[in-house]
Amino acid sequence: MSNVQVAVVTGSNKGIGLAIVRALCKQFPGDVYLTSRDPGRGQAAVAQLQQEGLRPLFHQLDIDDVQSIRALRDFLKEKYGGLNVLVNNAGIAFKVHDTTPFAVQAEVTLKTNFFGTRNVCTELLPLMKPYGRVVNVSSMVSSSALGGCSQELQQKFRSDTITEDELVQLMTKFVEDTKKSVHEKEGWPNTAYGVSKIGVTVLSRIQARLLNEKRKGDHILLNACCPGWVRTDMAGPKATKSPDEGAETPVYLALLPSSADAPHGQFVSNKTVRPW
Ligand code: NAP
Repeated sequence: MSNVQVAVVTGSNKGIGLAIVRALCKQFPGDVYLTSRDPGRGQAAVAQLQQEGLRPLFHQLDIDDVQSIRALRDFLKEKYGGLNVLVNNAGIAFKVHDTTPFAVQAEVTLKTNFFGTRNVCTELLPLMKPYGRVVNVSSMVSSSALGGCSQELQQKFRSDTITEDELVQLMTKFVEDTKKSVHEKEGWPNTAYGVSKIGVTVLSRIQARLLNEKRKGDHILLNACCPGWVRTDMAGPKATKSPDEGAETPVYLALLPSSADAPHGQFVSNKTVRPW
C-alpha cells in the first residue's frame, strides 16, 4: 500500500472539474485522480493536461452508478488505504429553454446532483484520512432557491438537527410532487437544479455535523461551495469567470492547511463563508 497522498475530483473531464484537477496537479503534494464516467473523454482530458506538463492519473467514475463508485472505493482502499481530498464536482443542469417535462428534469437532475453526490459520500467519506478535505460543489442558486421555498421548508433546510434520512425524504418528495404537479402548492421553488443544490448544501451541513460527532479528533474539514458563474458547457460563454478562476474556491477548500479548523460545514463562495 502506498503512503502517497491522494486526491479525487468527480466529473473532471471538462469544465470546472478539469480546472480543479489542473490546479491540484500544481499544488497538491500527492496523486491527483481525474475521473470521468466516459473513459474516452477522461483519457482525452488527461492527455490535454499532460501536454501542459502535468501528471494526473485516471479512474472511471459515474456517480449515477453505485457499482462504479464502489469500484473506485475499493481501488483507493487497496492502493492508498484511504483518501486525503475529495471534490464532489460532477453535476448536470438542463438548459433554460429545454422542453423536457419539468417532472423528468426534476428526477434526472436530482438523481445526479443530489442522490449521486450522496452515494459518493456514503462510499468514500469513511475512507477519509485524518486532516482530509471534502468539497461539495453546490451553487449560489441553492441560496436563491432556498429563499423561494415556503417558510416551513426553509426552516427544515436551515435546521441544525435535520438528519440525512429526513433530507433524502424531502428530496424524494420534491420529485414526487413535480410528478403530481403539486410542487409549487407544496412550497417548492420552480427550479429542479436549485432544489438539487439545496440538497447538496444541506447534505454538507449534515455531514460536517456527523464528522464533529464521530471523528472530531481527525480534523477533517468538509464544506459546500459555489465556484461562481463560470464559462463551461453548463453555463455558456457569457459567464464571467474562466474555468481556472471557477476552480479557485473549491481548490482553496481542498487545500486548507492542516493547522486550519475552519471553515467546516459552511457554504463558501469567493473564499468567503456565506450565510445559509
Ligand atoms: P460541465 O462543464 O457541464 O461539466 C460537468 C462535469 O460533470 C462533466 O465532466 C460531466 O461529464 C460530469 N458529470 C455529469 N454527470 C456525471 C455523472 N453521472 N458521473 C460523473 N460525472 C458526471 O459543468 P461545470 O460548469 O464545469 O460544472 C461543474 C460543477 O459546478 C457542477 O456541479 C455545477 O452544478 C457547478 N456549478 C457550475 C456553475 C457554472 O457557472 N458553470 C455555477 C455554479 C455551480 P460528461 O462530460 O460525461 O457529461
